[in-house]
Amino acid sequence: MTRRMGSPFTGQSIESARRALAARLKAAQLDEAEQDARVLLGAVLGLDLTGLIAQAARPLTAAEASRLVQHAERRIAGEPVARILGTREFWGLPFRLSEATLVPRPDTETVVELALEIFRERNAAHPPRIADIGTGSGAILLALLHEIPDAFGIGTDLSLSALVTARDNAAALGLADRAAFVACSYAAALSGPFDLIVSNPPYIPSAEIPKLSIEVREHDPHLALDGGNDGYDAYRALIPQATDRLAPGGALVVEAGQGQARNIETLMAAAALSLDRPPKADLAGISRAVSARKMPP
Ligand code: GLN
Repeated sequence: MTRRMGSPFTGQSIESARRALAARLKAAQLDEAEQDARVLLGAVLGLDLTGLIAQAARPLTAAEASRLVQHAERRIAGEPVARILGTREFWGLPFRLSEATLVPRPDTETVVELALEIFRERNAAHPPRIADIGTGSGAILLALLHEIPDAFGIGTDLSLSALVTARDNAAALGLADRAAFVACSYAAALSGPFDLIVSNPPYIPSAEIPKLSIEVREHDPHLALDGGNDGYDAYRALIPQATDRLAPGGALVVEAGQGQARNIETLMAAAALSLDRPPKADLAGISRAVSARKMPP
């Protein structure tokens, strides 16, 4: 089936295949053509960057060449590298992805950072209990469990398929005995109390979704993107639920879309949560993580 396209890279050295692939991706107007070419080639060959350099002169087999062409065609058709490989690094940890999970974004590491800052100020006797609402691949929850060795966490999702992926990720990261996953709407099936509740909910206004890049609009699950008319549907649902399930002194930390932080704080304050610190900015300077605390009665 791939014979037509199978030929271009066959017999080429690793280095010339890398250059040819980068040129093809560049010609398709892909911004990260060089980087994508290295990662896709490395994945086909099972080599990291050092390996690609060390073996630069080694020719590609026909099977490798044909897999590389398939990867190239998918990337050129708009599929993100993470989806092609089925895996993405988040917080320095590998996460397996499925069609039901968002590709974890570097921006979302801001949520982990803020949650850890808040957690480190806490002095409680018991091991921390964490909930992640809409856990997807489990990225936020598992990053936190990785950082807080005695914590226990529950991730929820509407998608069973996402939960299977999250559970597999927990097992692969050696966190299965401290992570549980449950299918429900937001926190509906949870009782708490939790010391920390985190979430990266869907927050894109519905009408904006068709304007997103092809990588996002055609490959990320819309359930994980679509925040309703104004983008705030999920916050309106989850903030009161989370508030009910927080322990006194516990914190809620959520991701915000660009320009949404102030309105999210208003929703948190309306739920009688206390805004005790400013939102945390991501590397682009966007207020990305918003937190509030439940005050003791
Ligand atoms: N950060 C994602 C994006 O910009 C959106 C994820 C979400 O809605 N939570 O595409």
